[in-house]
Amino acid sequence: MLQQLTERVWYLPHDEPSDRPVLTYIQGDQLSVAVDAGASPAHVREFYTAITDQRLPIPEITILTHWHWDHSFGLCAVNGFTLASKKTAKKLKEMTEWAWTPEAMAARLASGEEIPFCHEQICLEYRRPEWIQIIEPDMTLEGEGTMDIGGVTIRSETCDSPHSRDALLVSTGDVLIIGDAGYEDFYELDCQYDRERLAAFIEKLKGRDEKWLIAGHEKPLLRKDFIAYLETKYKEL
Ligand SMILES: [Zn+2]
Ligand SMILES: [Zn+2]
Repeated sequence: MLQQLTERVWYLPHDEPSDRPVLTYIQGDQLSVAVDAGASPAHVREFYTAITDQRLPIPEITILTHWHWDHSFGLCAVNGFTLASKKTAKKLKEMTEWAWTPEAMAARLASGEEIPFCHEQICLEYRRPEWIQIIEPDMTLEGEGTMDIGGVTIRSETCDSPHSRDALLVSTGDVLIIGDAGYEDFYELDCQYDRERLAAFIEKLKGRDEKWLIAGHEKPLLRKDFIAYLETKYKEL
């Protein structure tokens, strides 16, 4: 069920067993925007049903926070235009060439191109991997971008992050949506934090003024509480 966080921001909560991330909905007077496309067309359908159940319009624009499958594989099923960072688009383009057969997936796992955690989750989400369809976004962003959708202005910013190198942060002024940007790096660092990347990201979050923060796989929380959590992680390194 869609949950309301602020006047303009709603979200479909993350799901633990499937690892489906939070999908955020920003309601403008002229347009509405989704942040992240989710893990599959089935995930998009669940999101859109939850939106229409609240008598809200289906989003006309979908913005991706990073390239990982659980945030991007639903892209082929979303309505309207799609936007991602240049680096996310580059990675998705590369993945459009990948074959999605059990054999090809096993080969990527063996070569280290795919990691066991994501491989297992993808197999849970898709009964047949042949159903996976990866597409590139319609538009890309590098640096900062602003979009007025009526009654709310969305500010987007691309940056490096502790989790992946292609992060895109989305702000509505009172809510900062970061995807998985504050989590460990699963692909490059075997689920570890890099000290410098984490320190830089903490500083970036400290320099913002949103009250709320939505991270990929947990309930929305206060930005200051997420910073405190990351500072504890930093001290443990
Ligand atoms: Zn995720
Ligand atoms: Zn991720």
